[in-house]
Amino acid sequence: ATTPERTPHEAATHCPYCALQCGMLLRERDGQVEVLPRDFPTNRGGLCQKGWTAAELLDHPERLTTPLLRGPDGRLAPATWAEAYARIVAGIRDTQATHGPDAVAVFGGGGLTNEKAYALGRFARVALRTRMIDYNGRFCMSSAAAAGMRAFGIDRGLPFPLADLGHADTLLLVGANPAETMPPLARYLTELRERGGQLIVVDPRATATARLADLHLQPLPGTDLAVANALLHIALTEGWVDREYVATRTEGFDAVRRIAAGWWPARAERLSGVPVADLEATARALATARNAVILTARGAEQHAKGVDTVTAFVNLALALGLPGRPGSGYGCLTGQGNGQGGREHGQKADQLPGYRKIDDPSARAHVAAIWGVHPDELPGPGVSAYELLDALGTPTGPRTLLVFGSNPVVSAPRAARIERRLRDLDLLVVADFLLSETAAIADVVLPTAQWAEEDGTMTNLEGRVLRRRALREPPPDVRTDLRVLADLTAALVAGAPSYRFLSSKGPLQPLDAAADGAQPTGAEQDGARQDGADPRVVFAELRRASAGGPADYAGVTWERIDAADGVFWPCPDTDGPDTPRLFTERFATPSGRARFHPVEHRPAAEEVCAEYPLYLTTGRVLAQYQSGTQTRRVGALRRAAPEPFVELHPDLAARLGVGDGEELRVTSRRGELRAPARITATIRPDTLFAPFHWGGTGRVNSVTNDALDPVSRMPEFKVCAVRVERVTP
Ligand code: SF4
Repeated sequence: ATTPERTPHEAATHCPYCALQCGMLLRERDGQVEVLPRDFPTNRGGLCQKGWTAAELLDHPERLTTPLLRGPDGRLAPATWAEAYARIVAGIRDTQATHGPDAVAVFGGGGLTNEKAYALGRFARVALRTRMIDYNGRFCMSSAAAAGMRAFGIDRGLPFPLADLGHADTLLLVGANPAETMPPLARYLTELRERGGQLIVVDPRATATARLADLHLQPLPGTDLAVANALLHIALTEGWVDREYVATRTEGFDAVRRIAAGWWPARAERLSGVPVADLEATARALATARNAVILTARGAEQHAKGVDTVTAFVNLALALGLPGRPGSGYGCLTGQGNGQGGREHGQKADQLPGYRKIDDPSARAHVAAIWGVHPDELPGPGVSAYELLDALGTPTGPRTLLVFGSNPVVSAPRAARIERRLRDLDLLVVADFLLSETAAIADVVLPTAQWAEEDGTMTNLEGRVLRRRALREPPPDVRTDLRVLADLTAALVAGAPSYRFLSSKGPLQPLDAAADGAQPTGAEQDGARQDGADPRVVFAELRRASAGGPADYAGVTWERIDAADGVFWPCPDTDGPDTPRLFTERFATPSGRARFHPVEHRPAAEEVCAEYPLYLTTGRVLAQYQSGTQTRRVGALRRAAPEPFVELHPDLAARLGVGDGEELRVTSRRGELRAPARITATIRPDTLFAPFHWGGTGRVNSVTNDALDPVSRMPEFKVCAVRVERVTP
């Protein structure tokens, strides 16, 4: 006899991984979840292999299904939620009683939903009263965010819909490899070439994307800024600058022109290795195209001068009159799934929800009123992700850390030192659904729901707010991150005299509503847990908190997202339009004009020398994602990309006597990486490449440089000085 087939249960949602947020349909039949591609404007029915296989983790044997506590024997052992919460609450109280509120820190992630990012910031600042919160997006696109803010007065990765690429005649990609990182987006690239457009890629490696291009500029790592200034120099000397646009829509061009005048192409060629002819061809292709787009990604951004490097390309785009013109412009290809929304709702050290600055008195007053606290009670700015991690366990740094949706043991630069810092903590709490390298050294591990088990919203690389829809309930002893935050809040703030937290009638009550010092009743606290864990309730509060800010979600409702293919922010009114395309009339600066900033090339924080004669750069491979916690556990992805490797040029391999697949040791001033050699002519002879998806001895971030950009505090992942040798000579 056969079991009758159940009616399939379906959910139209989006991929759990990157910022393209491809549309997908989840279908559950007889307990098995299948992923089907769904037509959506970004992926147009396509998925990459990561998306196709995403459901494999839902019932994975390594999935965490109960809290874990580290016992006296040093091992993690199953525990109840009550035991886990008791340990966390006692640890937080002890730490803060002895060392003050900032001794407890929170570390978030760019994959958390908007609701979680918002709730995490509120939890840190209201329940913990700590200023020590930041997130892993600082390691992702913070340099482009800062450059966008200073040039345009607002930071939205793509200020236009992705479909605008379909109208571009020239596309310049700088440090971006979407053919591997966002394969469905690569269709735009092939279509551009099919209609006679030009694709130009700037990358030290001949990546899968560069191999699609008409022209590949292969600069020395860390010299992109000089390349951009040289392109502007050529545009100036050839008379290609859009003088009317510069005069009417921008300010500050003269200082930029003076710097660009000094970057004659031969000078840039000497520094970067990019031939003058290629620089000239690139400038011509951009300047003479009817529509041209410049996009940057991590290759340009993950530098100690990442903000200035992105700014140099923004300057070029402005000089050519591109931003705000339909089919043209500048944009950043955001990486993490909610890299855009994750930086808008308050999990950044320097920001409050709505992308408001935390040191802006009016922003503090607005958000404090919604959170039911006095503005003076809100902590001030904290420190950036790397600085927070590097302070852990030190005499003046945090002694307790709560991590949500991040794996800094693998993803932080100078990772061996950060791992030691994490091990030195009095209490490390990690919420995750798999035992990541960071969870494996935690004192408390909280098993959390996966993307197909909870509702919420994400904001993709276009600034389009999307609905993530649950297919099924989480396993019995697994909780959502929102539920964890609501539970911990209720445990920590019950009895707090200055505000009534999360009443059953809605989110936080204003301060004056609790001015009588009334304590929440038990029923209210029960209601609080329900409300605080409900993504709809959190989103409703997020909308109020963001209202009037640069990233205004006040008019975004779940119903509205459902009725269309998402809603683009800013969207201040439920009855008004959203904003797919920014800057058509004015920029978000006080004057309405975009701002040029003069930026000058400076060397990488670490240059090659006799002891460390090669450059190392890092990046991704198609079948893995971020620190690999998820994708390394998916069978097809593991088979496609089973282990770390070090790419080196055949000339270098011959000089060193290295054979393909031979074990190499790559050493920098900070540590070493061991991985097999992959010999390929696609890399420069003076540069090595290694992907960042693995921990252990194959962890490339043991080697990378923790030099920080002075503005974005982005570490210099993309270039450091190393030496390489065979492990067994
Ligand atoms: Fe799409 Fe990115 Fe998911 Fe691949 S990983 S299916 S490109 S959202």
